[in-house]
Amino acid sequence: MKIDIIIAYMQRYEFGHEKDFVPPITGIHLAALTPAQYTVRVIHQQVEPIDFDTDADLIAISFFSGFAPAAFTLAKEFHKRRKTVIAGGPHVTYNIEESLTHFDAIVTGEAESVWKELLADFCDGKLKPVYKGEPTDLQDIPTPRFDLLPNKFFIRKVIQATRGCPFTCSFCTVPSLNPGFRLRPVDDVSGMLLITTSGIGGKGRSCGFGMIT
Ligand code: SF4
Repeated sequence: MKIDIIIAYMQRYEFGHEKDFVPPITGIHLAALTPAQYTVRVIHQQVEPIDFDTDADLIAISFFSGFAPAAFTLAKEFHKRRKTVIAGGPHVTYNIEESLTHFDAIVTGEAESVWKELLADFCDGKLKPVYKGEPTDLQDIPTPRFDLLPNKFFIRKVIQATRGCPFTCSFCTVPSLNPGFRLRPVDDVSGMLLITTSGIGGKGRSCGFGMIT
């Protein structure tokens, strides 16, 4: 089975985003969680063209609410091509009914706990409409597939050292989407700092970027 993971994007500011600054980590993280018997690609719509003629069996789209129109358009185009399209991310987590009008299945919350089950269900022709992901223990997660990051972002690499937030601001999705403040093991984080991606090194640009939420 072939899976295309797409990180949806659309330009939202007339004068903003002059640089494609920081690469999202979701796609390369999901790719790392994907069992080896499957073939996986990661496409960042922000910097790469969408391959609508892909031979992938499953299209998985991740997006924030601000990029929802782009994600819905992608789903429509892939459905025209008879592809199964699933989605995850904050928008689908808080808009389940709406999301199910656009996608064949959605993952709410954090995907780690249900990703392999979803892929197995798809292979068996038993895809469920909603997979409810639970908060993940960061002790056991794999190293993201940095090799699948396009060499087109200003920051070439992102390392996730923590997840969640110790605060609970009422307007923020983090406390409910990523509850608790969780730390990745220090050895994992320092190990990821040593992994280079193509094109990094000798260019006078940092390859490490700590994301603290
Ligand atoms: S991530 Fe920021 S806005 Fe959200 S709860 Fe934490 S401190 Fe508040």
